[in-house]
Amino acid sequence: MKTQERVIFPSISISTVLKTFKEVYTVWSMKDAIVVGAGPAGSYLSHLLSKKGFDVLNLEEHPEVGRPVDCTGVVTRRVFDYVKSGSIANRVKGANVFFPGEEPFHIEKSEETIIIYRDAFDKDVSSMAVDSGSDLHMNARVTSVSTGREYAEVTFRENGNLKTEKAKVVIGADGANSIVRKEVFNEKPRRVISTYQVDSAFRMDDQDSVSVYLGSEVSKGFFAWAVPTGNISRIGVGTLGSGTRSYYEALSRHFPMDAVLGINGAPIPISYLKKTYANRSLLVGDAGGIVKPLTGGGIYTGIVSAKHAARALTEAFEASDFSSEFLSRYQKYWKDEIGRELWMDGIVQRMFARLSDKSLRAIYRVLSSPHVLDTINNVGDIDYPSRLVISVIARHPSILFNMFS
Ligand SMILES: Cc1cc2nc3c(=O)[nH]c(=O)nc-3n(C[C@H](O)[C@H](O)[C@H](O)COP(=O)(O)OP(=O)(O)OC[C@H]3O[C@@H](n4cnc5c(N)ncnc54)[C@H](O)[C@@H]3O)c2cc1C
Repeated sequence: MKTQERVIFPSISISTVLKTFKEVYTVWSMKDAIVVGAGPAGSYLSHLLSKKGFDVLNLEEHPEVGRPVDCTGVVTRRVFDYVKSGSIANRVKGANVFFPGEEPFHIEKSEETIIIYRDAFDKDVSSMAVDSGSDLHMNARVTSVSTGREYAEVTFRENGNLKTEKAKVVIGADGANSIVRKEVFNEKPRRVISTYQVDSAFRMDDQDSVSVYLGSEVSKGFFAWAVPTGNISRIGVGTLGSGTRSYYEALSRHFPMDAVLGINGAPIPISYLKKTYANRSLLVGDAGGIVKPLTGGGIYTGIVSAKHAARALTEAFEASDFSSEFLSRYQKYWKDEIGRELWMDGIVQRMFARLSDKSLRAIYRVLSSPHVLDTINNVGDIDYPSRLVISVIARHPSILFNMFS
């Protein structure tokens, strides 16, 4: 007997087919990661992710990596453990510290501090990223960012054309005024330093030392500096709040300032955010406020944060989990390495910011005694300054009294 066969097709509407096709295409065409910003943190992160084989789009708003330069370029050797770069402008071993109304006192270290050409350094990091396979787009300014359940979406203006890209995750490596932070993270750094710096055609007598100026004449709550790089000196002020220009006028009396080659300055966030992770998003470097509060140095800490972001993201790709909960491990990773230091520095910075000139002079008298200078020379480390502060206070507790006298 012949059986009648009937094939039953499920009824699928055209719109369902199109929707499914669109979803498959979205997943297929989506980047693994979009990194916003090609500063040291963004480029180093792009490099590490691309090296692991992830598909990385790195967007940079400027037409040239590393420019404009808003930095003095003072780093330690540790930075070169991560970045191969020939961008060295000078090496110094000491610092001349000017307390208000006192003779400078000199600190000499056995280890060198390195002054880099910041634009060349940034290009070196960026070329590591490109060599590893990152897709770097210049003149690509991100204008909006959103993160959802399925993907992150980034809109940017590239050479005048508005474009949109999707990715599994978006990372804000876009500096102090981060758009990723503004759009995705509901927080901003609580303490920000304003700066004003001049490149001057003037050769400092002491090419082996940086100069640091303290006191109310040159700053409110931070410090001023002069850094030798041969015939050009980088001279600047940092201050809490406004007024950089007038502090700079006061500082410039120490120098023959008739030959200004360039003026720059940008905000430095000196307090990290409570949360540097969110659903499908992380913040590295200045964008997350991951900067040394006492010195305002953020190149090393930015690179360290990028290293930990790469580790957390690699694990997220493996687990296909980009939830805020999963990505929270990023904050644990970077804090395990530098969190304690940044926290301690933050406390010391807040205390330092309140010191009057009278207290500074009292501290100067303690510090300039030979045995304290020995401690400074032996323990001082610009990447880990709190070690020095703790050591000096432990050996000379009277300094605490001077701070509050
Ligand atoms: C005057 C001054 C002196 C300093 N001196 C030192 C020093 O001596 N040593 C030190 O360690 N640190 C110093 N710093 C701090 C240091 O410059 C920063 O901490 C460091 O640059 C942080 O690196 P980053 O990659 O996080 O951010 P950045 O270097 O700021 O890089 C962010 C990148 O993102 C790009 N970007 C921003 N917005 C967008 C957008 N919407 N779309 C696309 N791209 C975007 C920017 O163009 C930039 O290239 C100084 C800072 C200042 C202002």
